[in-house]
Amino acid sequence: MLQFPIFAPMINQEDFFKKITSHAKEYGFVFPSSEIYDGLSAVYDYGQNGAELKNNIRQYWWKSMVQYHENIVGIDAAIFMHPTTWKASGHVDAFNDPLIDNKDSKKRYRADVLVEDHMAKIEGKINKEIEKAKKRFGDTFDEKQYRETNPRVLDYQQQINDISKRFYQSLENNDLDDVKKQIEELGIVCPISGSRNWTEVRQFNLMFSTKMGSTADGANEIYLRPETAQGIFANYLNVQKTGRMKLPFGIAQTGKAFRNEIVARQFIFRMREFEQMEMQFFVRPGEEMKWYEYWKQQRMQWHLSLGIPAEKYRFHDHEKLAHYANAAADIEFDFPFGFKELEGIHSRTDFDLGAHQKFSGKKLQYFDPETNESYVPYVVETSIGLDRMFLAVLSHAYTEEKLDDGSERVVLKLPPVLAPYKAAILPLMKKDGLPEKAREILAELQEDFMCHYEEKDAIGKRYRRHDAIGTPYCITIDHQSLEDNTVTIRERDTMQQERVAITDLATIIRKKIKPVK
Ligand code: ATP
Repeated sequence: MLQFPIFAPMINQEDFFKKITSHAKEYGFVFPSSEIYDGLSAVYDYGQNGAELKNNIRQYWWKSMVQYHENIVGIDAAIFMHPTTWKASGHVDAFNDPLIDNKDSKKRYRADVLVEDHMAKIEGKINKEIEKAKKRFGDTFDEKQYRETNPRVLDYQQQINDISKRFYQSLENNDLDDVKKQIEELGIVCPISGSRNWTEVRQFNLMFSTKMGSTADGANEIYLRPETAQGIFANYLNVQKTGRMKLPFGIAQTGKAFRNEIVARQFIFRMREFEQMEMQFFVRPGEEMKWYEYWKQQRMQWHLSLGIPAEKYRFHDHEKLAHYANAAADIEFDFPFGFKELEGIHSRTDFDLGAHQKFSGKKLQYFDPETNESYVPYVVETSIGLDRMFLAVLSHAYTEEKLDDGSERVVLKLPPVLAPYKAAILPLMKKDGLPEKAREILAELQEDFMCHYEEKDAIGKRYRRHDAIGTPYCITIDHQSLEDNTVTIRERDTMQQERVAITDLATIIRKKIKPVK
């Protein structure tokens, strides 16, 4: 059957993104939090299908990190931690974003995002030049050589380098006056008002705090964790000792994190309450770069194993390193609003364990039986936002198709292993014993797979509903099923139907949801 996506050439990225957010709401994936009170900025709830998709992503990550690695174990630390944790980690003093307001639109921005967007625009010009040249030179085009020799491209690249060097240097030195000056000199305007009427740049701490204790007087200020990693560091020795772990080993964790983001737009990309999936890998000092490279490749492999094309991903190596890192890279994904960070891989040295050792006065060393030495291990971290991964998967899966009979359908081409339901069980009619037969099949398959039973509406309508939530298989029970114990099974993407034995269903589904290795 002829199918082709109809959205790509016809609508722009913004409209496409709007379609995804409204589809997510309409089909029970993501709702604005407390919507009956008009919602809460940058906070979202996951609906009946969203919760399944999110669970499946979390499980897919957990399996690959914990179940498939002998030397990685998982924990579940509390959100609240002793407040000194955040002093030691540097979050109290340094977990800031530089903010700037436009006096005319009264809109608030992150100064670093304004400058990075400006650099991305120049990068866009380079890409345009390259596209043009590619067309001109055809097969003989050598992109590397062109980048290194074309004067216009070189000039753009120089501009980016100059901006980046000065900007990150100013941030590093906390020279906020120069950050503002640079924004003015670059002629960056507010996207809403179009004006350059900016306030001073200020630092803003992103941690949420609350009070612990029953009386306000005696209450202690504590923080909602801005990352899950510190719960791993604080438990490092507990796990190492009780699990008799030997270096190198990892501790994984998934859980909520909270950040009072200055600019919280773009749906679930940047939320104030979100979930992280993090793994801290403890290694011998001096071996961290080897493991850093290893985890960079491993994590990219994990993404590709879902069958999402490689061109949707790219690495971005950091020039400006966080206070704790000696190497860092992002895995960026091509979201509907461009390539943005999806996951971070950081070589965190012994910064965190060293700081906790100092602030707590407790030794956090590892005795290495091979070298007979005690030392604080180094750490390589992989940190991915579950909600961002959800958005990546959803936006890649959303497809509008025109079929050869002239009709259209919206289908979520989710990786089958992540789909909320693996199969829909659909009796062709609500009579003649078909529902009973269908429920027998449901009871059987339910043991292993999330299935959805539906008998309302014409079969075509039911197919469309399941296309829209990404169910890989629709299983239809008809009169023949009663005679010979066969059913038709319809595949979501090709819409092809096949008659198969009921006893083969579980095997067919299992094969389908096996990840690409
Ligand atoms: P960004 O530069 O986009 O603010 P970050 O570099 O501060 O992100 P990290 O501290 O490295 O992010 O956090 C690790 C991961 O957690 C990120 O790669 C991202 O997937 C996720 N994450 C961070 N902040 C948010 C947020 N506000 N909403 C959703 N996910 C987030």
